[in-house]
Amino acid sequence: MTPDQLLAVDRNHVWHPYSSFLDAPPCYPVASASGATLTLEDGRELLDGMSSWWSAIHGYNHPTLNAAVNDQVQKMSHVMFGGLTHRPAAELGKLLVDITPASLNKVFFSDSGSVAVEVAIKMAIQYWHSQGKAEKNRLLSLRNGYHGDTFGAMSVCDPVTGMHHLFQHNLMPNLFTKAPVAGYDTAWRSEYGKDLEQLMAQHHHELAALILEPIVQGAGGMRFYPPEYLKLARDLCDRHQVILIADEIATGFGRTGKLFACEHANIEPDILCLGKALTGGYMTMAATLCSDRISDGICRGEAGVFMHGPTFMGNPLAASTALASTRLLLDQPWQQNIQRIESLLTQGLDPISEFNAVEEVRVLGAIGVVEMKQPVVMAEIQKAFVERGLWLRPFGKLVYVMPPYIMSDSELERLTRGMCEVLAAL
Ligand SMILES: *Cc1c(COP(=O)(O)O)cnc(C)c1O
Repeated sequence: MTPDQLLAVDRNHVWHPYSSFLDAPPCYPVASASGATLTLEDGRELLDGMSSWWSAIHGYNHPTLNAAVNDQVQKMSHVMFGGLTHRPAAELGKLLVDITPASLNKVFFSDSGSVAVEVAIKMAIQYWHSQGKAEKNRLLSLRNGYHGDTFGAMSVCDPVTGMHHLFQHNLMPNLFTKAPVAGYDTAWRSEYGKDLEQLMAQHHHELAALILEPIVQGAGGMRFYPPEYLKLARDLCDRHQVILIADEIATGFGRTGKLFACEHANIEPDILCLGKALTGGYMTMAATLCSDRISDGICRGEAGVFMHGPTFMGNPLAASTALASTRLLLDQPWQQNIQRIESLLTQGLDPISEFNAVEEVRVLGAIGVVEMKQPVVMAEIQKAFVERGLWLRPFGKLVYVMPPYIMSDSELERLTRGMCEVLAAL
């Protein structure tokens, strides 16, 4: 296929994320990727500000991760996980249990972030069933939240941006509290917790779990919120006997400056979802961790087992890569590196906050967000970035970056300078 043929086939037959076949915006064919750079079929190079949606933390074509894949593929790519086990899954399980909050002692591997959220929801429901409280089967979540695209996950996503009315007869009737007050550094006032307190007090008897993205709400608005909110959520869950599910699929593995965002508030969730950067962006894999209290309850309950088991559970290739990626992260001074990225993003994006079309600029860890006053036209703005050799994927009012951690100082400067130039022209 020539590049033109490739694009024609793609345009006519292949769905892309949240895409339409009518009047489809341009799609850019990538031939290869290395470091923080994507190379297009026509040879153009784009500096990647997205880490392929939070995942490629070590950049592309990394020798350590390549070696992990190559080594494992020589042994076995996959074996079923029912009745069989293997080193990559056991070693990865142990590592995840060791680096996540102390009470999280059991790990369930699955194929993608959305499935990890489904698993978390099922764990919470099965747990309460086992305690003779089957009526505790609803979820409480936060407006502006995003937890994935499968039905259970969708039912806890923001009802407006998730278009719940389209699926109203198929979605679990869950509850939503107001989005947390904006700003990581916002001085906490007790009124910021009122809505959550009231909903928990009114509904705890029917609530299985509260699910939230700690500190950073990702795809639902790239919003940061104060650690006090997370502390309050933990207190309320304890007080009202509700399970706390932390969805760290986006925030995990250092992105916010802590290894896991729950550490900003020093809290431990009862259930934790991981994905995206788990394999360093090489393969699809996710994990749901839970405490012994949850797993004991489930295993002593009516079913006697946890009712889930994906075909590709614990996939050895993905598990080996995840192990290599996580060790690679932990073996380097990653906190310093995230601070380096944070200060370069802060400096580089600072001029943008003066622009007329810009509402706010915010940076936390290796995440930089420019919120515009009006939604941007994605196809146009993306073209302007590509012309400057940059890869960004803005949505709505948000022009944001979460670069690979290996991005150099000069590349980060090029990225933020390009954002300044493109946004100055709006
Ligand atoms: C991306 C994401 C998901 C869904 O993960 P997939 O791998 O796309 O299914 C769930 N929760 C959060 C917070 C995410 O950022």
